[in-house]
Amino acid sequence: MSDQSISRSPGNNLDPWYANYAERTSGLSASEVRALFAVASRPEVVSLAGGMPFVSALPAELITGSLEKVMREQGGMALQYGSGAGQPALREQILEVMALEGIRGTVDNVVTTTGSQQALDLVTKLFIDPGDVILAEAPSYVGAIGVFRSYQANVVHVAMDDDGLNPEALRETIAHLRGQGRRIKFLYTIPNFHNPAGVTLSAARRPEILEICRQNEILVLEDNPYGLLHFEEKAPDALRSIDENGVIYLGSFSKTLAPGFRVGWALAPHAICEKLILAAESAILSPSAFSQLTVSEYLRSTDWMAQIDTFRGVYKQRKEAMIAALEEYLPDLSWTDPNGGFYVWLTLPDRLDSKQMLPRAVKELVAYTPGTAFFADGRGRHAMRLSFCYPTPENIRVGIRRLATVINGELDL
Ligand code: PMP
Repeated sequence: MSDQSISRSPGNNLDPWYANYAERTSGLSASEVRALFAVASRPEVVSLAGGMPFVSALPAELITGSLEKVMREQGGMALQYGSGAGQPALREQILEVMALEGIRGTVDNVVTTTGSQQALDLVTKLFIDPGDVILAEAPSYVGAIGVFRSYQANVVHVAMDDDGLNPEALRETIAHLRGQGRRIKFLYTIPNFHNPAGVTLSAARRPEILEICRQNEILVLEDNPYGLLHFEEKAPDALRSIDENGVIYLGSFSKTLAPGFRVGWALAPHAICEKLILAAESAILSPSAFSQLTVSEYLRSTDWMAQIDTFRGVYKQRKEAMIAALEEYLPDLSWTDPNGGFYVWLTLPDRLDSKQMLPRAVKELVAYTPGTAFFADGRGRHAMRLSFCYPTPENIRVGIRRLATVINGELDL
């Protein structure tokens, strides 16, 4: 037995199959966020850790009405297998949703997926051989990093600032990697209300980023689950609205409706879309017809834009509560002030380590996500993600007050 096969499942020698796992499983590890969910779900803990949408703000009776109507009128279809590309009526409606962000596409280029998470998995499966490079913002979405690792990609982070991904840093990173003969397959980016950084890519930078990628033959994977959840002015139009050949766009109903449906989608150039459908069929045969028809009926029969407005109001109030509490209890630190979405990125003094500090925070009954979860290269110790989507404004205040006690206690040590 080689050392390499042992290292595939570290610490797992109680598993009699540990030597048999595929090489690629070495990239699989429980995310820091997952381990946290168990702790943070205790009712006495104020969790600023997870990214759970506040589904209690949904009109439950309207959703029940949609469910009942689907079963009454299309029950046979809802309970059956469907097309690997997804339900045609929903894909038409998805085009209308994307039009709100300036995107024009055709229904043939839309594939519905089991959340946008599955679309991330499928795109990575299509493009990544072990060792290929994926560029991603520094920091980036923990769930995407997990997918990329599971296909043995090399994630290389690119610096961002308050205006999002930095074009100069992108140019330099590409030149550096090219100099080393590395293969860059795509740029993964979350332009709007970034998870976890909370920032938005400025309108001015969007064409520039696309041009850099076009010149270097790098595909862009635009992940935009939060775009419609702006607090004041709308986010700039999507990258996909500027370039239809070089961008795969991912969307989701998880944040604007509910994650329980597990309905997301990809809009991709035609040839890529065909391959995505084949990959989706081999993974799951077809996405849930029941979920898709219910979402479709909900969109058809309710004022879904008004519901999104309700969500915007709820999240804006919570974001304001978080910023006010940070100003009051942690005035010496710095943080991002998002104009939408779910997250604030808090930077700590260099001598504090957010991962090491977490058990103490949980003891003080507050949880957050350590910054290291959002980097593939071990960075992020001096930062954390704070989510304002789920707790009430009052609890957010309590949570930040507790966090300040922990941080100030560490600084006094
Ligand atoms: N991308 C980003 C940036 C996310 O924050 C999330 C969910 N947290 C997803 C993708 C996946 O969302 P879903 O699968 O529910 O559509």
